[in-house]
Amino acid sequence: MQLTFLGAAGEVTGSSYLVETGNNRFLVDCGMFQGGRDADRKNRSALNFDPQLIDFVLLTHAHIDHSGLLPRLSTLGFRGPVYTTTATIDLLKVMLKDSAYIQEKEIEWQNKRTHRRKHILHREIAPLYTVTQAESFLKQLRSVDYDDEISLSPSVKCIFRDAGHILGSAIIEVQIKNHMHHIKLVFSGDLGQPGHPLVRDPTPVHHADILLVESTYGNRLHRDQRCPVSC
Ligand SMILES: [Zn+2]
Repeated sequence: MQLTFLGAAGEVTGSSYLVETGNNRFLVDCGMFQGGRDADRKNRSALNFDPQLIDFVLLTHAHIDHSGLLPRLSTLGFRGPVYTTTATIDLLKVMLKDSAYIQEKEIEWQNKRTHRRKHILHREIAPLYTVTQAESFLKQLRSVDYDDEISLSPSVKCIFRDAGHILGSAIIEVQIKNHMHHIKLVFSGDLGQPGHPLVRDPTPVHHADILLVESTYGNRLHRDQRCPVSC
């Protein structure tokens, strides 16, 4: 088995992992790089493999830094299913179209500005994906319930657990049968804090052979939620 970090390594956006087993090739998350001058270049050069060779995608949650390049993956040739929770699908229906619309407007503005400044013919740049392409991608989403075991292929199974981060967010446990061995990978996605009023506490995971855990705020202590003002 081979595991490749495609983003969110040495930075905090563009979350995506490529997992290659003897029989399958799949992604966990397909996030957009955000912020910083280099983000556009990174988004355009991301996915530098053949998307047609990806069997499926597992998506932890709807935030754009985890999901924002999915329509681009589809536009570049990926035709497989994307498994995620029902609530995440509901959020993506709004968020991916919104992301596409913002890109279309930004590119339109950039192209107009370039044209005004140079007064000569220039090569127009295109958005990463359009609203139409984002809408078309939504057909590839497949809904899963928390705590159900899903068989993705004869050698790969997974279970989505509540991550308590936002509506629909999930920790994904993946079981891979590799020859005579079973390997359990756990992808934390973004994790919530216990004790929040609107989302459930993150589900404890009791075992992993390989744990991939978000660590954006790993060097800080959370404020105690029980006494937010005086403590
Ligand atoms: Zn998030």
